[in-house]
Amino acid sequence: MPAAAEHVHIQIRGIVQGVGFRPFVHRKAEELGLTGRIRNTSLGVELEMEGSPAALDSFIAALRTDAPRMAVIASMQCTRGSALQGYTDFRIADSAALAGERTLISPDIGICDNCRRELFDQGDRRWRYPFVNCTDCGPRFTIIRDLPYDRKNTTMAGFAMCPDCLEEYQDIRSRRYHAQPDCCAVCGPRLLLRTAGETDTQTPQDQILERVKQDLKNGRIAAVKGLGGIHLACRADARDAVARLRRGKNRENRPFALMCRDADTAARYCEVSPEERRVLESPARPIVLLRKKEDFPFAGISDNRYAGIMLPYTPLHCLLLEDGPDTLVMTSANLPDLPILYRNEEIRKLPAGLADCALLHDRPIEAPCDDSLVWVFEGSIIPVRRSRGYVPAPVRVAHDGCEVLALGAEQKGSFCFIRDGIALMSQHIGDLKNMETMDLFTSQIRRFERLFDLHPQVLSCDLHPDYLSAAYAVERAEAEQIPLFPVQHHHAHMAACMAENAIEGDCIGIVWDGTGYGTDGSLWGGEFLTGGYTRYGRSGSLRQIPLPGGEQAIRQPWRVGAAMLLEAGLEPEEFFGQESRSVKMLLQTGLNCPLSSGAGRLFDGFSAVCGLIRGATYEGEGAVLLEAAAGESSRVYPVIFQENSGLLTFDWRDMMRMAAADLRSGVPVSEVTAGFMNTLAEMAVQMCGRIRLQSGLSRVVLSGGTFQNRYLMEHLVPALRNAGFSVFYHTQVPAVDQGLSLGQAMIAGRGGEEYVPCSAAADN
Ligand code: ZN
Ligand code: ZN
Ligand code: FE
Repeated sequence: MPAAAEHVHIQIRGIVQGVGFRPFVHRKAEELGLTGRIRNTSLGVELEMEGSPAALDSFIAALRTDAPRMAVIASMQCTRGSALQGYTDFRIADSAALAGERTLISPDIGICDNCRRELFDQGDRRWRYPFVNCTDCGPRFTIIRDLPYDRKNTTMAGFAMCPDCLEEYQDIRSRRYHAQPDCCAVCGPRLLLRTAGETDTQTPQDQILERVKQDLKNGRIAAVKGLGGIHLACRADARDAVARLRRGKNRENRPFALMCRDADTAARYCEVSPEERRVLESPARPIVLLRKKEDFPFAGISDNRYAGIMLPYTPLHCLLLEDGPDTLVMTSANLPDLPILYRNEEIRKLPAGLADCALLHDRPIEAPCDDSLVWVFEGSIIPVRRSRGYVPAPVRVAHDGCEVLALGAEQKGSFCFIRDGIALMSQHIGDLKNMETMDLFTSQIRRFERLFDLHPQVLSCDLHPDYLSAAYAVERAEAEQIPLFPVQHHHAHMAACMAENAIEGDCIGIVWDGTGYGTDGSLWGGEFLTGGYTRYGRSGSLRQIPLPGGEQAIRQPWRVGAAMLLEAGLEPEEFFGQESRSVKMLLQTGLNCPLSSGAGRLFDGFSAVCGLIRGATYEGEGAVLLEAAAGESSRVYPVIFQENSGLLTFDWRDMMRMAAADLRSGVPVSEVTAGFMNTLAEMAVQMCGRIRLQSGLSRVVLSGGTFQNRYLMEHLVPALRNAGFSVFYHTQVPAVDQGLSLGQAMIAGRGGEEYVPCSAAADN
């Protein structure tokens, strides 16, 4: 030890276990001639390092810059100058099994370049082995049953390591050192082929793969078990198979995701910017919404301008796509409204004859996890569905109070825990409208509590009295005698966007979605809120639309269109024919016509008047088709505001009248739809301007499902900035309802919300 040696104690918190962190530290220490110890602790890892101050400096810098790609350093505390221990080497100390284990679990990680190389290297002992993985890649979240993160606590427990694998596992110089799911063809999971009328086949493995590839090549449908569940796959250009998939899944128009062999293949069919390529190839390997090229060859995949494309993320996917068709439809195998299937035996639940064969394997999936869905805006990832590859990575938030559990809403259900500085959000669970989905919801809550040692002392839920998630919250709060804070839907959206952007104090929230329960019992969804976490008011909204038939109007946007026409003093029959007479009568009586200020409804109704949709086959279809129809145009309809007992509302009736006149006189739908969205953007800027005059607020957060609309984002965000606003949007949790549990948790963590009617909230 040189004379000038110094001691440093380093405490690191974050995702630093199961991601190759200790081997990395070991290599760095040797490289820099440092001695010391590293060990896992209840909080992360702890290091005692000794050496020259310069070497220690480079070491600390390297922790930040060179850490393994899946490591997330949440915080790092260095204390220098303690007495030297006189270490003569660097060693990994035993990790004490501490009570209150609080380390974070890594999300599942797409196959890394090294493993892919081995997969296709005939000389490697893992050549063509479909479950190759290492400390840099492979299953994590979906296989973990319990902590600590050891093989015996994962679904790999049943596979005893062979001597070769064990040697790698124990060798700190191996890239499989302490890789819990490590395995090979000798000791690891195996493929399983299930075909109609035949018994399961396990051998030989290569023939199974060839058989399935042949089936896919011939235009058949295969069920394929992957990382977080089972997919239905067929070649993207097999029209018959795609049509059969649609019938079998009872999924008329909703787009299917595609899996392309690689990013270059994706770039042949879609526009791929350098950022989009980076996201496609990122460890999370999400589905990325890409703009289709003019000659996009696959019919029946998506009815709009975008296609959702992902790259192979498991070795099995790589093998399926190595030759033959370069693009497969990969849609989750599930029954309508139910979670993704993920157990081998569940294959039986699929409609008979839908899949011609099933490519399964014997590594159980502990928790289902759908593919994540994102798009790229201004170089940032905009999550639409946050699941595989991202969950359960923490979102950093400003919260240091007690542990909170928020139960989300109903559509795109999710839950979210917050505790000392982090939010842990569930994967996409699905719509909480049936027992199966509710079971998944509650079992995942229990699993998170076990894995992260969570003991919530405060609960939060939506205000809506009929949501199953709220019922769960009420029951649990009563049983455990802990406080429950119900939170208004749109305030929760707003708070979610504030939280991930680290906004404190008051701001303006533009929250547009389909439906949420308002404080007055009516349906909100075109809201301009002001305030912060604990106190908020409603400063602006949209003129309410009567929804003839309630829920029925949500499923049949033409009814909303008819209502909008009638409100604007026009004749629905002109656009919707005789069928609209009964709706007109219903509207005139006002019976079963709940009022809604939802932006989603405005999109639906307008889309229907433009002739783009009649009945919706999935949530948000009207808005998707409207955006798809829009061209670039500078057309803007009149922006008229009305004040109603302090609440400023956008009166869309003039817009409706002008647009109807345009349609009548043959103005192309591409112009009218663009005009509609331009008008909404213009209206939002004007509304925010008025709110700023009153309140002085100039920060604007955007949340709610409507902001999945690219045209709107591309026009509204710059327009707000030009008007001098600072604009914040979601880049970590979805703008749709999956993301709002984060906002609920933050609000409850601050002691709940106070609603101040009208715009008075911003006056303090
Ligand atoms: Zn790897
Ligand atoms: Zn092995
Ligand atoms: Fe919502």
